[in-house]
Amino acid sequence: MDISSLGINKGKIKQFNSKGIYTIEDLIKYLPREYFDFRNPIKIRDAKNGEHTSIIGKITEIKEGLAHIRVKVIDGYGRHMFITWFNQKFVMRMLKVGEVYNFCGKIEIDDIYFSTQMLNPMYFSKDLNKYKKIIPRYIKIQGMSDDYLLKSIDTALKIVDKTEYLDSDILDKFSLFKRKDMIKSIHQPDNMDDVEMAEKRILFDDLFYFAMELEEKHGDISNKTSLIMKKASTIQKFIDSLPFTLTDDQLNTTRDIFRSMRSGKRVNALVQGDVGSGKTIVAFILMLIAAENDYQSALMAPTNVLAKQHYEEIKEIGEKMGYKVGFLSGTSKAKEKREILKELKSGEIKMIVGTHAIISSSVEFDNLALTIVDEEHRFGVVQRELINEKTKEGVHSVTMSATPIPRSLALTVFGDGTDVYNILQMPAGRKKVITSLTNNDSEAYGFMKKEIEKGRQCYIVCPLIEESDAEVMKGVLSVEEVYKKVSDYFRGTGFKISVISGDMKAKDIEEEIDKFSKGEAHILVSTTIIEVGVNVPNSTVMVIQNAERFGLAQLHQLRGRVGRGNHQSYCMLISQKENNEKLEAMVKTTNGFKIAEADLNLRGAGDFLGTKQSGENKYIMLMLGNAKLFERVKREVGEIKKDNKRYSRYRNYIKENYKEKELDEK
Ligand code: ADP
Ligand code: MG
Repeated sequence: MDISSLGINKGKIKQFNSKGIYTIEDLIKYLPREYFDFRNPIKIRDAKNGEHTSIIGKITEIKEGLAHIRVKVIDGYGRHMFITWFNQKFVMRMLKVGEVYNFCGKIEIDDIYFSTQMLNPMYFSKDLNKYKKIIPRYIKIQGMSDDYLLKSIDTALKIVDKTEYLDSDILDKFSLFKRKDMIKSIHQPDNMDDVEMAEKRILFDDLFYFAMELEEKHGDISNKTSLIMKKASTIQKFIDSLPFTLTDDQLNTTRDIFRSMRSGKRVNALVQGDVGSGKTIVAFILMLIAAENDYQSALMAPTNVLAKQHYEEIKEIGEKMGYKVGFLSGTSKAKEKREILKELKSGEIKMIVGTHAIISSSVEFDNLALTIVDEEHRFGVVQRELINEKTKEGVHSVTMSATPIPRSLALTVFGDGTDVYNILQMPAGRKKVITSLTNNDSEAYGFMKKEIEKGRQCYIVCPLIEESDAEVMKGVLSVEEVYKKVSDYFRGTGFKISVISGDMKAKDIEEEIDKFSKGEAHILVSTTIIEVGVNVPNSTVMVIQNAERFGLAQLHQLRGRVGRGNHQSYCMLISQKENNEKLEAMVKTTNGFKIAEADLNLRGAGDFLGTKQSGENKYIMLMLGNAKLFERVKREVGEIKKDNKRYSRYRNYIKENYKEKELDEK
């Protein structure tokens, strides 16, 4: 029902629209931020520190400060109190000396002078008795008085459709308020217990909606498949040929996944392992198994650079064993691309490596049986959808991530049947990267000099400068500026310095990285493009300029670029900011699981997952905060799913009542 059904004028409609309220239902969903209980006014002398209460009194004085209004009030028993409003100058115009009001808010009592005061209260003057009830306060709508909003909601409550959509057995099982009671109690509660019950029902509805959406997304994906891989006879020889011994975690992960692929169970695996723990080799072995069984496999990486690096490695391995390996990315030339697409369709190419371009719907495979996504720390909804399309055909799916996520979240993002594997052991001989924090560039450069003289190489990473953010970016050094500083510092040493700037072409970036990999440059000054994938075991120093500009997970990834060989390695964070929790966490621990935990706490799940801008974030947060209840709700949805008619009735309700694409990224 359109908001105009309230019988209000265009100006008011506009004001509602500014808060995203277009319909009566939207208005009903506009929830109070807090409640004020005006029911039992007390005497000033009985007020207790910290208490939320209401007091009736007459204004004797109004004073205006710089950012606040201060009012003196006397109650019917001759006691005074002060009331202060911060940043709400408009109340000045509404209050009158000599008039009696009912004020409701939080009491503060000064220990020394025993003076009583109330902060930012809600208040009413006329009809003191009419307002002796619990009154909700909403986020202010520009230009609209509290009273007007309350009256509009009152009208909306009378005309809104209050039909219950949940079956009564669900209401009983979860001890829920009926929808009509919830709507009434959230806006016009009789007591605070009702508010609590109403909030519980709203939470249930949100979790129910999210569980229904997940069911729709993952529910039909079977955990059985006809893509069975029986053979792995060439694999042991390959493992034996490696220049190192696999860790137990690497071996067990590979074995368990192979066992599933052999048994007819569709693999849906999340492999979590800290930076440098050796996930790539696990991916390669799985791809070799697929190839031995005459199936195609696809390996996807988030950047061109990483994809290219994987390609070079697997190509060498694959071709030795007689398999054709292809590369495909957004930057591939049209002619090459056509050729690759043809060979994928015919089945000539057994293994394809690239960016997410590989699984776009225009790419046809002969018999794709395995997708591997590497370094998935941004679990974008859209990309997951594409992979889901493949998994519906029975394709095995493995995701590799250096950023571990809570189990409940993993199941949400990847579906219920997800097996989570942790590679916790680091390859033998690895030393912890020693991390330090400094505000002095020369200190870092001086240290680099010593390492380079020992024959090592160093990275310097700078934040990407966004011009749109000129204000924030003040004092942040660009790659070009740092390059100049570094060149000046090392003048006369004969050190070669490579540079990768933000505006370079993919091909030139590859060239620079290649040069550095071959040891032709001593220092690589770069943007975060090297965050994932660059693997140069001889580099031992990672210097990060303006380290405060980076996210924790990103800093940890960058640090993972060193310490990849047997030399002791170092990470030096340069920052002028003091007391930065993030940077202190980096110095304190090198454990990626701990870092991820700290990151989740500092940023919240949305940002952590790269879904902050999406509507999905709200639901993910709710789910994480109510894990047990969500489990029960999900089980309930599973039950509903068994009854086709019932399920589609619920789906229809959701389609009609939730804004379209609520979960999509905006
Ligand atoms: P990540 O888990 O970060 O993707 P990589 O797979 O890139 O780590 O491995 C990091 C480095 O460790 C690579 O140079 C790889 O060859 C090497 N490596 C992998 N497994 C082992 C092992 N078991 N022993 C020694 N080195 C290993
Ligand atoms: Mg990796």
